[in-house]
Amino acid sequence: MSARKTIPVESMTAETKCGYCTNSICCTYISQEIDTPRAKVDFDFLLWQISHRDIKIYKDEGSWYLMAENACNHLQPGGRCGIYADRPQICRDYSNDFCEFDESAENGFELYFEGYQELLAYCKKRFKRWGQRPY
Ligand code: SF4
Ligand code: SF4
Repeated sequence: MSARKTIPVESMTAETKCGYCTNSICCTYISQEIDTPRAKVDFDFLLWQISHRDIKIYKDEGSWYLMAENACNHLQPGGRCGIYADRPQICRDYSNDFCEFDESAENGFELYFEGYQELLAYCKKRFKRWGQRPY
């Protein structure tokens, strides 16, 4: 059973919440905004990128992102940050108000592509003559 189902919500505060999240989910990936893909050639390029291990693609609030699901090298066993005093600003700015511990991020995305097959299916649906090269 997942940890989030066994913790009484009332016992968790903003200060204690990360202590319950021993996986430190927010330290296990990076995401980078990318240009909105519009043409077949754009999606063809994304298919190449998502063919690589641990790469996902999603659209959230109108913007597209490439995500690499790789844990940070500074993440310590048990979930602590190994460079806490010197951690980058983006780590300092991240709020745990409503984070991946509350709901898997992909559930809230407009679009989420787990891998090549999911994105290919989307391309075939979006473009009637998908697959006719050159694009
Ligand atoms: S911000 Fe959220 S995902 Fe990150 S360590 Fe804290 S509870 Fe876990
Ligand atoms: S530097 Fe520390 S806080 Fe930032 S992602 Fe890595 S482990 Fe997490």
